Amino acid sequence: MNIFESARIRLTLWYLLIIMTISLTFSAFIYRSFSNELTRRLENIETRLGLRELGGQVRYFAQDIKDTRGAVLIVLFYTNGIIFIFSFAAGYVLAGKTLKPIEDALDQQKRFVTDASHELKTPLAAMQIATEVTLRNKQLTKSLAVLTLKENLAEIEKMKNLSNNLLLLAKTNGNARTTFETFSTAEIKTLEPMFTKLAKQKKIKFVSTIKPLTISANKESVLQLVSLLLDNAIKYTHRGTVRLGVLRSGRNLKIVVSDTGVGIKANDVPKIFERFYRVDSSRSKSVDGFGLGLSIAKKIVTSHNGDIKVTSIPTKGSTFTVLLPVF
Ligand code: ADP
Repeated sequence: MNIFESARIRLTLWYLLIIMTISLTFSAFIYRSFSNELTRRLENIETRLGLRELGGQVRYFAQDIKDTRGAVLIVLFYTNGIIFIFSFAAGYVLAGKTLKPIEDALDQQKRFVTDASHELKTPLAAMQIATEVTLRNKQLTKSLAVLTLKENLAEIEKMKNLSNNLLLLAKTNGNARTTFETFSTAEIKTLEPMFTKLAKQKKIKFVSTIKPLTISANKESVLQLVSLLLDNAIKYTHRGTVRLGVLRSGRNLKIVVSDTGVGIKANDVPKIFERFYRVDSSRSKSVDGFGLGLSIAKKIVTSHNGDIKVTSIPTKGSTFTVLLPVF
């Protein structure tokens, strides 16, 4: 029996204990009141009919009182039996419902740890093999050793990025209340130089149109969100233009990041926000990444009660549209 099944049974038994204590107390109370009332009424009848003898020593209705009490006891016994069965069934269902979110959260955490250790294992194994092969090499030259160290350094860099992303993902809790502050979307402009530089390195254009608007949101998260989307747009675009638009749309802040990159196939679109999910074609194109960026983006959007949507045409490009209710 797993921990949740035993917790469910224990919770059910607690529910049952509470309900049965109430039910049995009430039954005892009902039985006592009924029994006293019955005795009182029959005594009245006996008095009225003059059936009493020897100062009430002989009871004409004594057997009837006993029989009726017995009948009431049987009814109460069966009623409690039904309550017992019904409470057990209802308690079991309710306990399941109560424990479900905790079970889901723990399952998710377990999967997260498994996925994260799996992702960390790959660069570690690569480093181990490279180091072992180099150490076993009898004709090891300095340049070969330097090469191995450089390869290892690249793997260390990857692991550092991964652990940073994992920490960010752990920190950005989609359900927790994020602290909001008032700031201007003009702050997003501080990201422009970095992405202009990245786009230049890839010989693509980066165009950004940011309307200065005062919003109430978590500044660090909003900047992170825009960075994640722009980072992907530049990563998965090999020619053309990456555009960033920040504008107002009714009661929402609208952030649009579009590119003329590799695009995403329709059947991959629903999966790209899952943790560690990477589209195979982008893997084969050996673009660096761990499949965590969009899951962090999604968590940020959720923590602002917002919405994120993608439209994409393979080989033509993608558009990510975020709506955040921040006015
Ligand atoms: P990563 O980029 O590290 O792989 P993400 O979670 O950011 O992880 O993205 C998940 C997948 O979604 C990527 O592997 C990529 O295939 C796809 N993707 C995300 N953004 C884009 C984009 N702008 N253009 C094409 N594919 C994208």
